Amino acid sequence: MGEKGGRYHLLTFGCQMNKYDSEKIEGLLAREGMTATAIPEEADLILLNTCSIRDKAEHKVFSKLGILSAAKRADQLIAVGGCMASLRKEDIFRRAPMVDVVFGPDAIERLPKMVGDFRASRTRQIDVAFDDAAAWDRPEGGARESDVVAWVGIMKGCDNRCSYCVVPDTRGPEVSRPADSILAEVEGLAAKGYKGINLLGQNVNSYGKGLAESIDFPGLLRMVDKVEGVERIRFMTSHPKDLNDGLIASMVECKKAAPSFHLPLQAGSDRILGLMRRGYTAAGYLEKIRRLRAAAPHITVSADIMVGFPGETEDEFLDTIRVMEEVRFDSLFLFNYSPRPGTPSAEWQDVVPRAVSQERFDRAMLLQRKIVAQNNALLVGTVQQVLCEGAAQRPGAVFGRTPGNHLVVFEGYPSLAGRTLPVTITSFSGYNLAGTMVCGE
Ligand code: SF4
Repeated sequence: MGEKGGRYHLLTFGCQMNKYDSEKIEGLLAREGMTATAIPEEADLILLNTCSIRDKAEHKVFSKLGILSAAKRADQLIAVGGCMASLRKEDIFRRAPMVDVVFGPDAIERLPKMVGDFRASRTRQIDVAFDDAAAWDRPEGGARESDVVAWVGIMKGCDNRCSYCVVPDTRGPEVSRPADSILAEVEGLAAKGYKGINLLGQNVNSYGKGLAESIDFPGLLRMVDKVEGVERIRFMTSHPKDLNDGLIASMVECKKAAPSFHLPLQAGSDRILGLMRRGYTAAGYLEKIRRLRAAAPHITVSADIMVGFPGETEDEFLDTIRVMEEVRFDSLFLFNYSPRPGTPSAEWQDVVPRAVSQERFDRAMLLQRKIVAQNNALLVGTVQQVLCEGAAQRPGAVFGRTPGNHLVVFEGYPSLAGRTLPVTITSFSGYNLAGTMVCGE
């Protein structure tokens, strides 16, 4: 990157995959001798790791770029990475002329070189190519969001073509990471004291496709389950059409696999699911939830749901409400549909007016709040094994997660981080629980 050192300011938008990539970016910049600053004016390099999943996410980035550009010093660099880089490519330079470097998710390794090349030539740099061989390994000593629970990438990209989604265009086709590389990272994390491992991929059920070795996701789960020191394993995201009995059996068999499952529903109407090209029906989805719960009765279930998809009628929205009432999700990510450029559904004319979509969103949210309050009320008085992750915002308090992935805040010292503690749940607010450590701990 030319001379070493300097300061960077990194802003991360969007999903867990982006947060994971940002950890890697921070590790690479640390290797270049750079340090982070929370103040953009102090930075030599400003980076935005962006998201394209919804229109709103892109607006946020362009508006931030406007503010940063207005205050940009002549010797400062602005780099834009992530999904917007892949999707908008050179258009980012046109819409935000103060941007110097555009790098896609597979070009992160080359970011320091791109920054160096820009400094040397003052010529804008762009690299948004997909790269099957993009290194999985992360720089030694790289940043991690937590000292207790780590995300580990197992695959990238997606071969599904849901009619509303840009991910296959922004992240490319599915590529699985070799199992020995995953195991080496997990073993290294366990040796450093990490207790929780979250396996990450756009569609983890497809893990193994295209690898020379014969392995699938249940096989990988069993391997990670054997790593000494690891206490809890979670994974995301699973596709309902690919969830099979083999995975359910491996979850039951793997004692460290936490009893929580994220299974995006998106819609409860079969016609809308068909238009979305999701590859399952509402009945098929419900059947998979029944099988999961039959095998693991205490499992918690979360999902993504989109309302206001083109052509969605009131009755079709009510189909979604019926599935929500039947499943009673422990947590839910609810969205208004947002047309994305280049996707089939963006061309469809039967747009649901925004006010109608928002009204459906509000109704679904109201129902979900009621369900969560009822579900969480059942937890009050129970003792949960909480993996403590560190200090909470409230002084004197720490936070952690139950096996079912509920966030719990309780009185304690930060030195409890990494320990699994019995905590009596005393109250809740929204999705979050409050508790008291059981005496004697
Ligand atoms: S499964 Fe569908 S929604 Fe999920 S990333 Fe792939 S294309 Fe997008």
